[in-house]
Order: sequence, then C-alpha cells, then structure tokens
Amino acid sequence: MILPKRIDMKKIFQKIADGFARVVFPNVCACCGRENTQQQRQLCSFCLQDRFEDANPNNDRVSSDSLLPEGIVLQHALWKFDKGGNLQHLMHQLKYERLTSIGVDLGRKLGQRLKAHPLAVELLDQQEAIVLPVPLHYLKFRYRGFNQAFKLAQGFREVWKDLPICDIDDVVRIKNTSSQTGFSLEKRLENMDSAFKVKNTDIIEGRTVIIIDDVFTTGSTTFELSNTVQQAGAGPVMILTIAQA
Ligand SMILES: [Zn+2]
Repeated sequence: MILPKRIDMKKIFQKIADGFARVVFPNVCACCGRENTQQQRQLCSFCLQDRFEDANPNNDRVSSDSLLPEGIVLQHALWKFDKGGNLQHLMHQLKYERLTSIGVDLGRKLGQRLKAHPLAVELLDQQEAIVLPVPLHYLKFRYRGFNQAFKLAQGFREVWKDLPICDIDDVVRIKNTSSQTGFSLEKRLENMDSAFKVKNTDIIEGRTVIIIDDVFTTGSTTFELSNTVQQAGAGPVMILTIAQA
C-alpha cells in the first residue's frame, strides 16, 4: 500500500511567503530592470555574461594602450566602458547609491574572467599574492560608509579562495584627492603624487599585489599605488578593474 506523503506545512508556508515577497519586492536586475531569476544576485545572467564587451578578448598583458610602468605585469579590465550607458550607470549605483552587492557580483565576475587568462593564472600560481582594493581617504570613507573597491575584492576572493585581502589600515590614502574627471594626464599624475602610504609592510613584502578598482582610465591612481607598494617591497603588481575607459 502506498502511504500518502506527509504534508510539510513549513515548506508550504515558506513557498507562500517566497511568492508574496516576489510580488512585493520583485527581484529585478539592477542593470536592465528585467526580472532576475538568480537568487541573491543584483544582476541577471544576461547582464553578467553577454551585455558588455570584453576589454581584453585576446588575454593580452594590457587591456588599454597604456605603457605599463616597471613592476606591473598585468593590467586587465573586464569590460569596455560605455559612456552614458548601462555600465556607467552600474558603476554610479555602486559608488553613490550604496548598492554594494553589485560590487560583489562584479568582483566575482572579474575573478571568473581572470581564471580564463593564462598569464594571470600562471603568475598567481608562482607566488604568494594579496588583494589590495584601492584605498579611499578616511574622510571619503566616512562620508560614503564603504569602499566600493573593497566590495569588488570580496567578490573576487569568492573565486580565488586562498587570497587574502589587505585590511583597511594596511595601505592608506593620505591625500584626499578631488575627482579627476576632465584632468589631463599630467594634472592627474600631479594630483596623485604621494597619495598612498603602506602602514603594514609585512603584509606586502615579497608578495604579488593585485590592485582592484572600478574603472581604469589613464592609470594615474593605480600606477601611483603600484609605485608605493613596490617601494615597500612588493613583488609584481597586477591591476584589475571592471571597466576600461
Ligand atoms: Zn540585467
């Protein structure tokens, strides 16, 4: 005789509650606004996989036309920046509208993409590495309440599980620079000169440093940070960003 399955009331209530939550708080993609079937994610699979153009499709050492200063072994951006488009809007939401979980989604995507970059995999296999989200000046941090680059680093680390992330006090930004939009390269370099300081040399010394930021434009910020960590004894430096302006 086949016994009827016990009715699990808890499960039924959970399903009703989930359905109710979907109607009241629909899970929509922060980028395209379409319904998002990915649980716990801000971005739908289309926006994460197919919407934007790969900035480094041939897995080159640089995804821009910048000349890399000595010591920087890789500069890789995930996608090409689309001025006024969806990606710019996403970056804006991450930075100014406190949608910090977008950062974790994007950082995870960056980490997954890097697993398909042979040079990056080879470099990270050889030597101990540490992730360094570009530090914010403490005044900016206090005002914003978080560092968006740190959110990217958290997502990145979900893919590269053994990698430690620098603490907020290990490397600091000592110059509260203004926005560099519209500045010439010369002015940007001058603006960023001596902007960072390594406070915990032990954590940097001899390690490959993976600098993570949201957008790579001329490199004035990340090159200066790279210079600072190398003076503190860091090994090779990689610069990883979500967008390539
Ligand atoms: Zn979407």
